[in-house]
Amino acid sequence: MVTLTWQKAGSRQVCRQAPKLAPRWQRMGKIEEDARLSIGITEPCQRKPMPGNQESFFYSQLECPVCGTINEYTNVRTGSYTISGRDTDFKPVGRQWVDPACQKYDPLLFLMATCKRCFYTREFNNEFRNWDKDTSFKTNRLRIIRDKHLAEFTKVNGVLRLLGSNIDTETYPLETAIIKFLMGILDVKASGNPTDLDQGRYYLRISWLFRDYDGRPAAAAAQVVKFIGKLRGIASAALGDLDGLAEYITNLKEAVDSDLLRAIESLEVRDETRSEIAEAASQFALASDALRTTGARLAEALEDAALRLKASYISADPRFHQHASFQQFLAEVRQRWDDVPFSAREAQSKAREYYMKAYQNGEIGPGFQQIQATYLIAELSRRIGNHESAERYFGLMTGMAQELIANRQSDATTVKFATRLLEMATEQARMNTEQTEGALT
Ligand SMILES: [Zn+2]
Repeated sequence: MVTLTWQKAGSRQVCRQAPKLAPRWQRMGKIEEDARLSIGITEPCQRKPMPGNQESFFYSQLECPVCGTINEYTNVRTGSYTISGRDTDFKPVGRQWVDPACQKYDPLLFLMATCKRCFYTREFNNEFRNWDKDTSFKTNRLRIIRDKHLAEFTKVNGVLRLLGSNIDTETYPLETAIIKFLMGILDVKASGNPTDLDQGRYYLRISWLFRDYDGRPAAAAAQVVKFIGKLRGIASAALGDLDGLAEYITNLKEAVDSDLLRAIESLEVRDETRSEIAEAASQFALASDALRTTGARLAEALEDAALRLKASYISADPRFHQHASFQQFLAEVRQRWDDVPFSAREAQSKAREYYMKAYQNGEIGPGFQQIQATYLIAELSRRIGNHESAERYFGLMTGMAQELIANRQSDATTVKFATRLLEMATEQARMNTEQTEGALT
């Protein structure tokens, strides 16, 4: 159990961390950020060495453009955590905060900024930080955003209130991160200029969070207990079959002992033959008994394992606020909004849908960004089992990457990124083909 060492600093809570050097990439742009991080190429990003005695977080005040409330948002300080790598859909893995007290937080929790009063939620990027200097935003979009957001906010039983009122960064950090992305998607839709790329990016991150949620010890233990239940069913069916078989073998042994041996008693059969048959029938009967005993031992061992796992991991309260579970809460949200995913797979499917829309409507620029988006569409297709689509997009991506590498020889950095991404695509396409073949056999 990690003990948090919160200290009050004025009105702010800060999580102290030990000083340590830890580089982290600076944000490079919407898709580039993902891919460049994932493929671990270092040159184009600037490293910022961490000075000593830094805190993990810093705080920014910003006026809510919808309701005028001054909010204080938590930001993750560069270098306060490291990751050991990225999964093939760019999900960061092996996150390690410099301050172990912060380990329960996924930095994604702080990517979206939610107004404490009206729940207006935006990605906390430079564009949002400087909204009050953005004349075009203020003149053309702010009124639409205000009207649409407040119309939703004022619905007593609306989806926005249900989501926003269940935010709890301390008790439910993972669930809250998912909720904030969902609210971010709602506000993208209400922005008067909904971007498919942002919706795709948010659903992708929701799918990463679901993976961590499902990977928690209690959830993993519940899966194992479920699997053990299946195995016990198989063992019990086998034991039932063995009972029938044992009776059959006992009858066989009796037939050998009494009928056969008596029948050949008066005939000219060697004693060795007689004893060989009797011995074999006896061994066969013993083996069947042993099989039943060991089978029963296996069933018992499985039952013990399930009970121990339940006692160690699953006794924790799965409740989410007043809901029986987070899943049940999401089910309630989905009654008001169809686009709420229940699982990593559903979120991947949504992410793919929006990346494809962004790809088709020209939101994604040509060149490296397009290659990365194509790669993601292919990989997400593979992950949700749409192998045909995966093959098509891996093929498209490969062609684009090869062309870019051939035409940009002077741009060493881009060539290096594209080459690394091409290697990943080749490997994932190979895996996709294997899965397709596996599905056919
Ligand atoms: Zn507000």
